[in-house]
Amino acid sequence: MSQAIPYIQRLHDDRNVWINGKKVNNIEHHPAFKGTIRTIQSLLNLQKNEETKSLLMYRTEEGTDAHLSFLIPRTHEDLQKKRIAYQYWADQTFGVMSRLSEYSRSLITGWYANRAEHESSHPGFSEKIAHYYQQSRDLDLLSTAAGHDPQRNRSNITKKGKEGLLRITRRNREGVFLSGAKMIATAAPYVDELLLFSFHKRSESEREFANVFVVPVHAKGLHIVCRESFAYDHPVDYPLSSRFDEMDAVLIFDEVFLPWERVLVYEDPEFSWKLRIDRAASLLSQHQTVVRLVSKLESVVAIGNELAETAGATAFLHVKEKLAELIIQLETIKALLIASEHHAQLYNGVLLPAPNFLTTARNLGTRFYPRALEILQQIGAGGLLQVPSSIEEFDSPIRSFLHEYYKGTYSSAKERTKLIKLAWDLIGSPLGARHELYERFYSGDPVRTYAAQYHSYQHKQRLIDFAYEVLK
Ligand SMILES: Cc1cc2nc3c(=O)[nH]c(=O)nc-3n(C[C@H](O)[C@H](O)[C@H](O)COP(=O)(O)OP(=O)(O)OC[C@H]3O[C@@H](n4cnc5c(N)ncnc54)[C@H](O)[C@@H]3O)c2cc1C
Repeated sequence: MSQAIPYIQRLHDDRNVWINGKKVNNIEHHPAFKGTIRTIQSLLNLQKNEETKSLLMYRTEEGTDAHLSFLIPRTHEDLQKKRIAYQYWADQTFGVMSRLSEYSRSLITGWYANRAEHESSHPGFSEKIAHYYQQSRDLDLLSTAAGHDPQRNRSNITKKGKEGLLRITRRNREGVFLSGAKMIATAAPYVDELLLFSFHKRSESEREFANVFVVPVHAKGLHIVCRESFAYDHPVDYPLSSRFDEMDAVLIFDEVFLPWERVLVYEDPEFSWKLRIDRAASLLSQHQTVVRLVSKLESVVAIGNELAETAGATAFLHVKEKLAELIIQLETIKALLIASEHHAQLYNGVLLPAPNFLTTARNLGTRFYPRALEILQQIGAGGLLQVPSSIEEFDSPIRSFLHEYYKGTYSSAKERTKLIKLAWDLIGSPLGARHELYERFYSGDPVRTYAAQYHSYQHKQRLIDFAYEVLK
């Protein structure tokens, strides 16, 4: 096994990250990335800390330590351990950082766990995924996944409408060359690896887009084009934006060479879809997303309560009703998570959380979160702007006024200002707006994910039959 290179050292390679019209030279110290990279490094440090290591890591069969996102769950205890590991990292970021690699690692782990099932119809896959899984796990590689085509013309399914999509342009004995684009790859600028697949089913006439690749971020000819940065270098005024801005990027491939061992699926619509809906990969990755959502909703409940309490607004019935709605959101998602684990079933020897509960939680999340932000606005009201522009104002000549007029029911003016700044970062900052969009869309277009749940609901016929039975 090769020795793992430390994360920060790995960032100093030839990756082409573009922001504000310039190539980023030193990503570790760049204002758009340094806060987030520092956060990731601090989370990675927890893996080595004696007190937290056991919450995040497990001992592999080979006797090495690996992050629990790579564990193949065989028992309820395994699933619980995975949940605790996801939650521990998520809690350190108020549930705001969602692409800390556990999602893409879960896809890889699921495919690896299920490799025997796929090997019979696709010889060679098993060896490739085993090699990749072991490499990512043992080197503790960070990764992200991107499954979508750039938004050019969603209703044009002709050849013209498919221009610009990622495809193989040529191949030789060593590998393939890739050109085209993928969107959105959150965290791409500062991870190690990109897992690229097709989120939607491809038809026979779309064979050239039905691939699964694993591409190193520093691959020659790959350009990572970032949106504008929402990171502000001021942790007190922007407690979330300064530390947790997960960059979203478009990936542009210009004749990128990829060796065959990293081409997991080659122009094969059936196999590409089989991996996309692979039971282990889907459920293990959804499990992580729901744990992370719980962590975020817990932060919302805490912020909502404090906003109301420190303004004396909990005296009003409708405010209590709204705070209860936030609690109901949280407890609903938590209950679905627990139910999914409780009803987990073995599939090819892997204990997988029950799909109905996870899908329900994920779909509810797309509606819960925007509503949660609306409630925070309704509770905070104008108070969300009753803050000085910077916390530094508390050291200015007018500080005595601020200490008097900005205080809350029981909190000091400075404490309440900090609270409001946290709430505003979640609701009103560019990062907050991005998060509302994220929760609506991160797992696909909710219109289609709801429709998919309707189609796949296996109890429908039983319920209908029972209704007719009662009618008799
Ligand atoms: C902040 C953020 C970060 C994200 N990060 C990632 C990531 O790291 N990796 C990843 O894989 N994904 C990520 N996603 C999700 C992904 O990129 C898409 O945003 C998501 O799947 C929705 O697709 P779209 O944005 O292309 O919308 P579109 O599919 O273009 O939809 C636009 C509108 O048209 C409608 N529409 C389009 N086509 C159809 C159709 N065929 N039938 C019915 N209605 C249709 C939709 O309902 C919607 O109203 C992220 C999303 C966001 C917002």
